[in-house]
Amino acid sequence: MPDHRKLGRELGLFDTDPLIGAGLPYWLPDGAIVRHCLEEYVRDLERRAGYRHVHSPVLAKRELYEISGHWAHYRDDMYPPMDVGGEQLVLRPSLCPHHALIYRSRGRSHRELPLRIAELGGMYRAELSGVLGGLGRVRAIQLNDAHVFCTLDQVEAEAAAALALIRQAHDALGIKAARYRLSLPGPGGKYVPGNWDEAVAILRSALDGLPYDEVEGEAAFYGPKIDVQIADSAGRESTLSTIQVDFHQPRQFGLEYVGADGAKHRPVMVHRSIIGSIERAVAQLIEIHGGAFPAWLAPVQLRLLPVSAAEMPYAREILDRCGAVRAEIASEGSLGARIRDGRLAPFQAVLGPREVAAGQLSLRLRDGRRLDAQPVEDALAWIAAEARRP
Ligand SMILES: [Zn+2]
Repeated sequence: MPDHRKLGRELGLFDTDPLIGAGLPYWLPDGAIVRHCLEEYVRDLERRAGYRHVHSPVLAKRELYEISGHWAHYRDDMYPPMDVGGEQLVLRPSLCPHHALIYRSRGRSHRELPLRIAELGGMYRAELSGVLGGLGRVRAIQLNDAHVFCTLDQVEAEAAAALALIRQAHDALGIKAARYRLSLPGPGGKYVPGNWDEAVAILRSALDGLPYDEVEGEAAFYGPKIDVQIADSAGRESTLSTIQVDFHQPRQFGLEYVGADGAKHRPVMVHRSIIGSIERAVAQLIEIHGGAFPAWLAPVQLRLLPVSAAEMPYAREILDRCGAVRAEIASEGSLGARIRDGRLAPFQAVLGPREVAAGQLSLRLRDGRRLDAQPVEDALAWIAAEARRP
């Protein structure tokens, strides 16, 4: 497996600048295309699974994290507060407290539950510079996050549904889990007291039938987790997807719903991420595909190769007709060199006098296959169908 840091720079997907800082990569146009396609995929998947999307700010008052418990249990990973007009603001270390407040913004009935709130949002981690590299570990994270607010009876089904969604997305993206991990609390005062045994039992049931390891000391401070681990090109393991059961934050924020009995009850929060951070997910996709992205993710889907200057007007005419198909003209250098340069593109088309005369396109696929020449309209429709999002 190639290293995404090397390949990502070679392919012009992302880069860093010492003036921006370590762990703060920026995305170049081709990288931004891959990222946006992935974001659209996951938002659509979530919408179809009954999630509602929200947006919330990346900053909040320090007090919010004192209530959530992050300030007491997670402060070492947070940036120091900023004094602004007599208030202390912090860059958020997670999205959960904002979502808890969105839940609390009005009265809730049991009929609304499970309430699934999702966001692709920014969060920040004060990683030491020694551990940073490429997209695998960054200081500014775009997280595919969601919180399911539900009754105790619903938690197991919600955790199982989240796990099924994770597996569906990994299949669609070609991601292979290195292992499933049930992350339990360990010794030490890092964890809040509470219903840990109950939460662990729920996650064990959700994992039923899958091979997994139980590892102490890897839980969140507020609850146990299912972590889906992936391996990078160097064999290093990290967490991509996660499901967490949390009784703590609903209690801290005083979350309630009115039950069928007319009385007030406390919901449970299931935290879950399908593809983890966008940064880590793209790092993984670069490595598993070696830069040869599936057509729906490829920054350039069709490369047009005019044999000579005489075919340039025809190439431009086709480019204008490409619509949603992402195409470019490659006209510099020998034809053989251009075909080789484009070996990662899903589709290439050599444009010679014959294609111009017939108004046709002859497609070459990445695996070396060549399709018969066909009318431009048909070829573009075929590419659009091949490049449809899973
Ligand atoms: Zn959360």
